[in-house]
Amino acid sequence: MLGPDRFAPRLGEVSLEELEAAGIRGLILDLDNTVVSWGASEIAEEHLAWVRRARDRGLRLVMLSNNFSDRVTMIARQMDIPFVANALKPSPIGFVRALRVLRLPRRQIAVVGDQLFTDVLGGKICGLYTILTEPLEPQDHPITNFFRFFERLMLPQRRAP
Ligand SMILES: [Mg+2]
Repeated sequence: MLGPDRFAPRLGEVSLEELEAAGIRGLILDLDNTVVSWGASEIAEEHLAWVRRARDRGLRLVMLSNNFSDRVTMIARQMDIPFVANALKPSPIGFVRALRVLRLPRRQIAVVGDQLFTDVLGGKICGLYTILTEPLEPQDHPITNFFRFFERLMLPQRRAP
């Protein structure tokens, strides 16, 4: 139930070609420690370019964050993609809202995020393809840091090449 379908070192290294080959047409992106470092507002050029490339290839994107602040709005605007804030991941509430934005069958949607117990678990509950990235920075919300301990227990292979 909990294993992601795929691992990636970071968002910019998720292969769009491989996703397309797997039939993926839409992407749900986590924000903190996936697109930007926790609490940061600057998006790395690598990630902006990746999002641009995905859109150019006709993929639909939506950002899904448990956070709720002007920062979420600002980053989604910078990437020029819609967003769903206050997502309450891993509950399906936010995922269902994101699915309404994408308007694609679930089997055509992949979730990309850095957390096993929010992004991957929530995506799995909704029957979506899941990709677990490495967190951009070790620093995160205290609750997240607590769950990282269990992530390490459950995914000893995570940092394997
Ligand atoms: Mg995250």
